[in-house]
Amino acid sequence: ASNRTITEKDVDSVLHPYTNLKRHPEVGPLVITRGKGVRVYDEAGKDYIEGLAGLWCTSLGWGEERLVEAAARQMRTLPFYHLFSHKTHDVGVELCARLLEMAPVPMSKVFLAGSGSEANDTAIKLIHYRSNALGLPHKKKIIAREKAYHGVTVATASLTGLVNNQRSFDLPIPGVLRAGCPHHYRFARQGESEEDFSSRLAAELEALILAEGPDTVAAFFAEPVMGAGGVIVPPAGYFPKIQAVLDRYDILLVVDEVICGFGRTGKMFGTETFGIRPDMMTLAKGLSSGYAPISALMVNERVYGPVAEESGRIGVFGHGYTYGGHPVSAAVALETLNIYAERDILAHIAKVGPVLQEGLGSFRDHPLVGEARGIGLIGALELVADKTSRAPFPPERTMGAKVVARAQDKGVILRAMGDAIAFAPPLIITEAEIGDMLRRFKAALDEAHGALGL
Ligand code: PLP
Repeated sequence: ASNRTITEKDVDSVLHPYTNLKRHPEVGPLVITRGKGVRVYDEAGKDYIEGLAGLWCTSLGWGEERLVEAAARQMRTLPFYHLFSHKTHDVGVELCARLLEMAPVPMSKVFLAGSGSEANDTAIKLIHYRSNALGLPHKKKIIAREKAYHGVTVATASLTGLVNNQRSFDLPIPGVLRAGCPHHYRFARQGESEEDFSSRLAAELEALILAEGPDTVAAFFAEPVMGAGGVIVPPAGYFPKIQAVLDRYDILLVVDEVICGFGRTGKMFGTETFGIRPDMMTLAKGLSSGYAPISALMVNERVYGPVAEESGRIGVFGHGYTYGGHPVSAAVALETLNIYAERDILAHIAKVGPVLQEGLGSFRDHPLVGEARGIGLIGALELVADKTSRAPFPPERTMGAKVVARAQDKGVILRAMGDAIAFAPPLIITEAEIGDMLRRFKAALDEAHGALGL
């Protein structure tokens, strides 16, 4: 049995995330064996441009030796220590201090965890802890948006507004409220401007808060650009209008920068791109360029003050993960941040971001494309059955999945969120590589169009 292929062992042993487990043995896995720059290679040596930077994370691409060295150095000096019970270690401290320096709005403290889900889950727990500290035990409800993605733990999957993350899992947990998705192309009324659409969403949010009772609503969660929901860039004026409503009712704003953080939208944080003032911010993915698992939750004084008081009163802040702030991950994250600064990643994105956006824009004339959208180095093409009426393909047609499968054959790995095809390549991608990626994609899209036999 030891000479079974990787594919055979995979089918026999792996429970795959985000996979139709029943169909997996028949579909089979794509076995990726190595990577270099913006490309990964399969067992046969075929190359693929990674159009989604893995899972929106490998910002520096594959084969960055400095990150390898940082990990190896840390493995030798201190492969494990933790931050529990008044203990600390230098790389963990340096990382927290660096993140506070980089924070786009004043932040007080940083909590380190291992994943985006854990960082968001911690934010949810702090919301509860803080309300209890303030003697407001009824102020616990949390608002998230349709199509949001905040993770897959019991609590964060409850905030996630995508059906697959809740269906058959008996979620959501109680206390989660849903606000509208700010996708202008899909949800604006006929003739409604972006500003008017934003005003309407803010008014609907206020109506929801008033209906629930403002003294029961604790926080609002938002990604600056919604990622897994289909790369939804907020319409003009959206965040300032939403923030004004939250301020009126003393509701905290948690900004999930897990995808947007570290340059993706063109500024260091999506918070800066869209003029947001978060009380808490969560970071992961680009924090370590995906080379080691790590996430961070930054909290301001409005959150930290009452939480610290409560821990003093009851004796301990009873929360923390074994691998939170893992020294190897922290060392890799620090080196990642060094590289972003030294190579001026923001200047590079300012140069190549428009190339990606114009390239996506050139698909607006394609018969299958209803909308091309994006900002910085993140974007999406939305496939539609009818460009004029914007009618989507029936979900059972799985057009997005079909186009992505053809794209994989042509040597570009992309992700379909329904019929929105997402693009979020490594931030180091060059103009020539963007051209190559979009040419490979266009061949797949044209082929899919041809196969419709229209
Ligand atoms: N938040 C956002 C915006 C994400 O895109 C993701 C993952 O894709 C998460 C949270 C969850 O992060 P993780 O998968 O590391 O738990």
